[in-house]
Amino acid sequence: MDSLKNAAADVVESGWYIRGHFCERFERAFADFCGVKYAVGVGNGLDALSLMLRASMELGRLHEGDEILVPANTYIATVLAVSAVGLKPVLVEPAENSYDMDPKLLERAVGARTRGILVVHLYGRLCAMDEICEFASSHGLLLFEDCAQAHGARLKDGRKAGSFGFAAAFSFYPTKNLGALGDAGIVLTNDESVANMVRALGNYGSERKYVNKFKGVNSRLDEIQAAMLLAKLPDLESSNERRREIAARYCSEIKNAKVLLPEIPQTASEHVWHVFVIRLKSEESRNALQTFLKERSIETLIHYPIPPHLQEAYAHEFSGDYRIAESMAKTILSIPMSPVLTDEEVSEVIGAINEF
Ligand SMILES: *Cc1c(COP(=O)(O)O)cnc(C)c1O
Repeated sequence: MDSLKNAAADVVESGWYIRGHFCERFERAFADFCGVKYAVGVGNGLDALSLMLRASMELGRLHEGDEILVPANTYIATVLAVSAVGLKPVLVEPAENSYDMDPKLLERAVGARTRGILVVHLYGRLCAMDEICEFASSHGLLLFEDCAQAHGARLKDGRKAGSFGFAAAFSFYPTKNLGALGDAGIVLTNDESVANMVRALGNYGSERKYVNKFKGVNSRLDEIQAAMLLAKLPDLESSNERRREIAARYCSEIKNAKVLLPEIPQTASEHVWHVFVIRLKSEESRNALQTFLKERSIETLIHYPIPPHLQEAYAHEFSGDYRIAESMAKTILSIPMSPVLTDEEVSEVIGAINEF
């Protein structure tokens, strides 16, 4: 708390609030943390997604109407970003064990106009990156990552979320594993031209003041939020570790035949448990457990109750069969997960679920 107050005071005293040293320092620190060359701070996660895609279009790597494979089971922002820039999202069903895009279904989803894959490391779990990277390169597809839920998730060899593809987008919405005190986002890439393009597009399409090369937008990471993130970044690893501890307790101590627990990946660090999602056998049973926990003052959420293709915003746009995503939406439940949960609180959650 004090470190945040001090950081905010530093910004106030500096008298410089946009495109300054805090943003530069955080971009460098976060790029280094993720093992990527370039980082460009932007206004939020949705902008990070759409600006990395638009930058790829301005650079001639993608063209209007190109198809991008995205998971059917994701937060709406992933799909919105693709359609907002004039690309066509093609939904791929999740795997039952991971909730992430099923790599076995990619082949069938690729068409003549498919040019990219946008993976989402949903709930904080890295997608099957070896398989997906291999698939993308053998099919000549650009690989993008939505890392909004996966800050710090990494493979055994140290490669982290955000370092696998052509570009990656992060959100620092306050509830994310690394959260600002307001809206913030970042684009990571190893390609300098992508970084420069994202920076120009997010600053009115301008590389030089008052010279507008592109029809850009205003989406920048301001100094206050950058200072907050810079102060919080050193705690990310330990707070992810605490999340893993809680997840391990849930997985070993929840014992109820009605409840399906998530799989812990082979390397524990592949998962940063942005949320802890359990599954029940039916919608009725899920709703009953949610009510049962609520009566015991245990708040739960559903990530997400309506999959993107069933949202009114996308009525009639997706004609495929997405029954796995639909059945997940009806049967999943996110139980309390936060690095500030105490051991007793975790025990209470476990006790209540076992009693159900
Ligand atoms: C939070 C989130 C976003 C959007 O981030 P904002 O900063 O809220 O715009 C995008 N994708 C996923 C998977 C998210 O969880």
